[in-house]
Amino acid sequence: MYRNFQHRHHKTNKLSWSNTRISLLEFCEKKYFLNYYTFALKKIDQKLRETGIINKKLKTLEMWIGEKTHYLISDYLNLLKDKEDTDENINKIKEGIAEEMRYEFENSKNKNYEEANFWEWWGLCEHYYWENVDDQLEETINKVLTNLDNFINSPWIEKIKNFVDLKYPIYVENPKNPDFESMKVYTRNIPELRDVSIMAWPDFWIRFSDSKFLILDWKSWKEPEHTLWIPEQLKVYALKLLLKRNKTPELGNIEIEAHELYVPSRNTYGWKIQQEDIDDILNLIIQDVNFQKTFLVDQDTFKNQPLSSTAFSRTSDEEKCQNCPFRKVCEDLKAFE
Ligand code: SF4
Repeated sequence: MYRNFQHRHHKTNKLSWSNTRISLLEFCEKKYFLNYYTFALKKIDQKLRETGIINKKLKTLEMWIGEKTHYLISDYLNLLKDKEDTDENINKIKEGIAEEMRYEFENSKNKNYEEANFWEWWGLCEHYYWENVDDQLEETINKVLTNLDNFINSPWIEKIKNFVDLKYPIYVENPKNPDFESMKVYTRNIPELRDVSIMAWPDFWIRFSDSKFLILDWKSWKEPEHTLWIPEQLKVYALKLLLKRNKTPELGNIEIEAHELYVPSRNTYGWKIQQEDIDDILNLIIQDVNFQKTFLVDQDTFKNQPLSSTAFSRTSDEEKCQNCPFRKVCEDLKAFE
């Protein structure tokens, strides 16, 4: 019975909401279309669809730094959890990631863009668009390694070591192998969100007791100017935790502290989640989902079929296009619109 239920849910392709997804829609509607509805290009032109799939797999150097930083921090935290965080082991994971990055870089540089198998293709956006970034490889690797050093030297590590000694249950995200099923937020008791998948997973969290939690999330870039209010992402994680425990978005006696750590600067910003934060984020998600629905045929979240590509406008901010991995397919699509 349970298995059938899982299977049924796994197969649905209903509309989903996540911080990344809504940020992309706000950034550029066309990019959102190309990223989340690449399959819709098939009806327009097969070659266009292939280019779309390749573009979707591209990573800019900046995205690559973020990805590798998350891998490295997650590996380090797993060492720490097992009390194996010796200098030797830390050096090993650092050397491992540096080697992996050099290998991937060469691989990406030497790919034949014309003949790449579009199902398997992976590469750096800069290489795909014929930019010579050879002189940036070591600098890029160093940024990733420095991010780990900064993380290790942040005040959080002593605290986490203490939590490990006290044997509190610790959850570390596995970015190399994301578990999409466990990323889903329990929304069955929220009528407005019952028909959509809400996805969220913090990098790290600890359960001190049945009613006390700490959420920690890290960023591989510098913090924005405004850090006085709680980032929406942290509120979503808190909401997720709450819905998992209580099935309703009521804090009750649950205490959740949420912190965001910016690794390049080592600054952390922390907040205690209040009921109004939960109410705010819930309303915001409902609004976002209603906006996302306006791009769907019949606003049907289950079928999740996008309107014609022309319903998704291109950003007028040319700066946003400069590093956009989709700029090739975005340009090619113009001929069909
Ligand atoms: S190239 Fe510009 S307009 Fe096109 S998808 Fe990217 S950001 Fe949007």
